[in-house]
Amino acid sequence: TYLITTQKAILTPHAMAAACIFCKIIKGDIPSFKLFENERLLAFLDIQPLSLGHALVVPKHHGAKLTDIPDDSLTEILPVVKKLATAMDAENFNVLQNNGRLAHQEVDHVHFHMIPKPNQAEGLGIEWPAQ
Ligand code: C5P
Repeated sequence: TYLITTQKAILTPHAMAAACIFCKIIKGDIPSFKLFENERLLAFLDIQPLSLGHALVVPKHHGAKLTDIPDDSLTEILPVVKKLATAMDAENFNVLQNNGRLAHQEVDHVHFHMIPKPNQAEGLGIEWPAQ
């Protein structure tokens, strides 16, 4: 399980995936509220949502950062992010993807956030158009 170097013990890729919280969600070992799934990716609700509908889209293939996963996994993700935003009727939303601790990545399994901003227009002092 561990590769021992003179500096430190490093988990092997297999052990890293086995310990990964999102791999456990993908396998169904940890429950999640699933929004979309196919053979290659999963979308589910964030457990600590920043807003109603805050969703995560993850490739099933384990990779810590954007640079660790194959291009074909990547190209499938944004259309799913778009599908979620459309399904939720999210007129204002952020798509966020963090890589590395300094960039605020907490879970080392590539994920895209889709964060609806239902009240954003109010905050900006923009009035909703009359219905
Ligand atoms: O991009 P970052 O790594 O910071 O985001 C990780 C996200 O994963 C957080 O928004 C956190 O709430 C979410 N999470 C989750 N379910 C878990 C663990 C973390 O939805 N079991």
